[in-house]
Amino acid sequence: MASNVCVLGAGRMGSSIARTLLDRGYPTWVWNRTVAKCDSLAALGAKVAPSVEDGIRAADVVIINVLDYAASDALLKRVGIASALAGKAVVQLTSGSPRLARDEARWVEAHGAGYLDGAIMATPDFIGKPETALLYSGSRDVYKKHKPLLFALGGGTSYVGELPGQASALDTALLTQMWGGLFGALQGMAVAEAEGLDLATFRNHLSGFKPVVDAALFDLVDRTNARRFTGDDATLASLGAHYSAFQHLLEACEERGLDAAMPRAMDMIFRQALSLERMEDDFASLAPLFR
Ligand code: NAD
Repeated sequence: MASNVCVLGAGRMGSSIARTLLDRGYPTWVWNRTVAKCDSLAALGAKVAPSVEDGIRAADVVIINVLDYAASDALLKRVGIASALAGKAVVQLTSGSPRLARDEARWVEAHGAGYLDGAIMATPDFIGKPETALLYSGSRDVYKKHKPLLFALGGGTSYVGELPGQASALDTALLTQMWGGLFGALQGMAVAEAEGLDLATFRNHLSGFKPVVDAALFDLVDRTNARRFTGDDATLASLGAHYSAFQHLLEACEERGLDAAMPRAMDMIFRQALSLERMEDDFASLAPLFR
């Protein structure tokens, strides 16, 4: 029989989660600070919980999706709520840091409930699709027991590890890689336009260059994982070769008066490594400087 679910928070994401669960036949309770936001879900068959405590008591699985952990704490860490949690599975889908996940796991488990921390790698319109990825860490038992429900929210769901902070850490790590690319594109567009290129040309050439960039990225991760920092026959480009090409970015910024805050920060990292006379080393040899 399908588990009874309570979704705390019916914002954009919480509503999409509740809609998907209702669509898959899960008996679903919803609660939101502004009750009117539950109307459209009630019309789809959701039961509106009169209070957080009522919602939790009615459910086997409690999914939390509010703005942040401060809002989540305000809901959960109250007299009456803690005792209602015993024996439940709590799935925290509010975005947070690894530390917040660790603290939450301790608190939830101390009140007799199982805890899974989740990171949603998608926007609300993707919830319930086969390709949608949600990352979970924390109780393996909760993950195993409620796998069908968790996979209903996204077919690309995966369990990252037992340490509660691991899903959040992976989320941050993946976003960090994305921000590197997006900030790089901002700098690249400035360089291109300063020399009279239009951004359509820049865009067209991004796709042609992408396989090379992807190969370098995976090679960097594999080499770092194996701690193969010394340059060898498989090295794609030595630190010295990278640094030589990097000078052209510094020169373009200087000559065209472009903002160079980010290239200067990158230059400092290059120089730290090169001061150790590592010109021939692989680009992956920069990895220890980040630890
Ligand atoms: P939203 O603004 O649409 O909804 C926020 C929800 O939090 C509302 O239900 C609101 O009533 C509730 N809330 C805010 N403060 C509260 C408080 N003090 N007490 C009780 N309830 C409170 O935001 P959203 O887009 O639905 O995002 C919800 C969570 O999901 C966030 O942690 C967000 O980072 C995460 N998330 C969102 C997306 C996305 O694309 N929207 C993607 C991944 C993760």
